[in-house]
Amino acid sequence: MHGFSRAARATSALAAACACTAATGAITAPPGAAAARPPAWCETGGTLSARAMPQKVRIADCDLRGRAIRGPNGLTAVVPADGTSLVAHSLRTRGASGLRILVDEQAGEITITTRGGRVPEGRPRTSRAPQDACKDGTYESEPSTWPKGGTVRWRYHAGRARLPRTAVAKGVANMVNANTDCTDEGRFTPPPDIGERYSGESATGPNVTRDAACGTRDRVNTFGGKAMTGAESDVLAATCIWFVGKRTVETDMALQEHGKRWWSGGLCIPGSYSIEAVVTHEMGHVLGLAHVEGAEHANLTMAPAVAACDNGLATLGKGDYDGLISLYGPR
Ligand SMILES: [Zn+2]
Repeated sequence: MHGFSRAARATSALAAACACTAATGAITAPPGAAAARPPAWCETGGTLSARAMPQKVRIADCDLRGRAIRGPNGLTAVVPADGTSLVAHSLRTRGASGLRILVDEQAGEITITTRGGRVPEGRPRTSRAPQDACKDGTYESEPSTWPKGGTVRWRYHAGRARLPRTAVAKGVANMVNANTDCTDEGRFTPPPDIGERYSGESATGPNVTRDAACGTRDRVNTFGGKAMTGAESDVLAATCIWFVGKRTVETDMALQEHGKRWWSGGLCIPGSYSIEAVVTHEMGHVLGLAHVEGAEHANLTMAPAVAACDNGLATLGKGDYDGLISLYGPR
């Protein structure tokens, strides 16, 4: 399976690749040929399996817009029907997974790539001696960013568990302000040229379904708790990023309220997860950072793993900061 950060740079390789596990025979019609009827996999009702379809789908063959697609890693998203593309991330207790849906209406193509699965994408944070986070300059980027010098305005949805907003706000600020323990002042300087602003509570939750799938966007960036009762049991958080070209237009972030305990200060109850740490990591996705894989990078905030009672993700490493500067420049 192709890694999607690399896949974005190698679209020709992607075009040739196929995510099919079964030979379907019906892939794409030759150019100019009228699509007499959609391929069999397209006619299935409900959620479509990415396994059953080619990685690149011609809209003329099967118009996926508005339909839900489930990746082989269990991650699901509704294909945007408003011209946007989508990146979905889920952070799991032992790894992470991603699903990217690129909608190119001009070319009439939709490209689907997935990353990670039930087998953890990253090794456990302690399995091999990782590099010092203050020296490890590794980062990976997503296809889109907010405008340089812009402000990400976000609303908070407390959800039923009433997760404390202060802890969510800390996580958001940690990433934007490049919070670290690598410097005496507690942050990398200069900070990246991107801001954030809390814009009030939202009665509606993030656009993430009960199955931890990215739903239909509502043009509001909503972060907060959500009881994702249909999600796989190891899912901690889900973040969805909608973009047009290279410009991010909306992000939503959901912390799992169902079956997960959260920690936001004082002594950590064993088995609880740090709200601040997880939100810091998810905010990295919001700003356009992707995961860094491999045990040697496990100390970075964008490593795809978090342990219970681990607040380490709340402080950025060199690569997390370098990534932000590469995307936004210095403030
Ligand atoms: Zn992640």
